[in-house]
Amino acid sequence: SGLKKHFTITGGVFSRKIGSVQAVNDLSFTVMEGEILGIVGESGCGKSTTGKAILRLIEPTAGKITFEDHDITDISDEEMRKLRRDMQIIFQDPYASLNPRHTVEKIISEPLLIHSELSAEKRKERVHELLEVVGLSAYHASRYPHQFSGGQRQRIGIARALANNPKLIICDEPVSALDVSVQSQILNLMSRLRDEFNLTYIFIAHDLSVVKHISDRVGVMYLGNMVELTNKDTLYEKPKHPYTQALLSAVPSLDPDVKKDRIILQGDVPNPASPPSGCVFHTRCPKAMDICKQIKPDFLEAEDHHFVACHLYD
Ligand code: SF4
Ligand code: MG
Repeated sequence: SGLKKHFTITGGVFSRKIGSVQAVNDLSFTVMEGEILGIVGESGCGKSTTGKAILRLIEPTAGKITFEDHDITDISDEEMRKLRRDMQIIFQDPYASLNPRHTVEKIISEPLLIHSELSAEKRKERVHELLEVVGLSAYHASRYPHQFSGGQRQRIGIARALANNPKLIICDEPVSALDVSVQSQILNLMSRLRDEFNLTYIFIAHDLSVVKHISDRVGVMYLGNMVELTNKDTLYEKPKHPYTQALLSAVPSLDPDVKKDRIILQGDVPNPASPPSGCVFHTRCPKAMDICKQIKPDFLEAEDHHFVACHLYD
């Protein structure tokens, strides 16, 4: 495909055990350089765990993570520290991740202090440049986080993530805490920055319309498993997995002529500590068959570039 770099996550990966909870189970996907891969699912499905495991903020217990063809699953902390320059994370609540006692200048300089050899003067210049890149200005540098709105704080978080010219940014619900009008401003900013700096995003969110707005491809997670993955338009127009179909049926259409039958799922999401046998979705799936209780479906390419884990397609 002519794309040299990619970030691959494969395996029976991330059987990350939190107590006895298996937050993320079978997962296998590749992110192409320059793309925005959306990951969507309800809370507790393992989206954030996946993002953190890629950055090794939590240790995956099995499987393999590849970054630009290097296996980074078992590299030393020292090597990982160097790689962190290339891989950044933006969190849902920028306020919680910005030290309230530090000025914006100090906050954005911090990664520069760790990873670059810039002089104090050059660092200051870089901070001002970054503030402008995210739509703020140099005079904001001497202010404190509480003096900013939620949207502005997320801009500061983005500026900090960009400080060392990263390649991959994990965005963990970056707009969920913001008003809808501010959400689209931040999403537009992030899209523009992707183009400008050839960034790659893994964009994690529970909101289907947010993911649709920004992503090139979208993966759907349920109970620690990726159940469907394809390009955005295909996923939203022709979803294959019964879980994706149910999720999308709940999104109101903007077109009043489009009548959608809402698929109501029965029951609750099972306890991740004791996931169902076979297909993890079988306890709630309107299309479940006998085989679904016994055999776990493989995550297969059912059509070109359209992956799905469901016995209806294998
Ligand atoms: Fe439903 Fe069976 Fe497909 Fe699972 S494998 S999503 S239970 S039809
Ligand atoms: Mg989360």
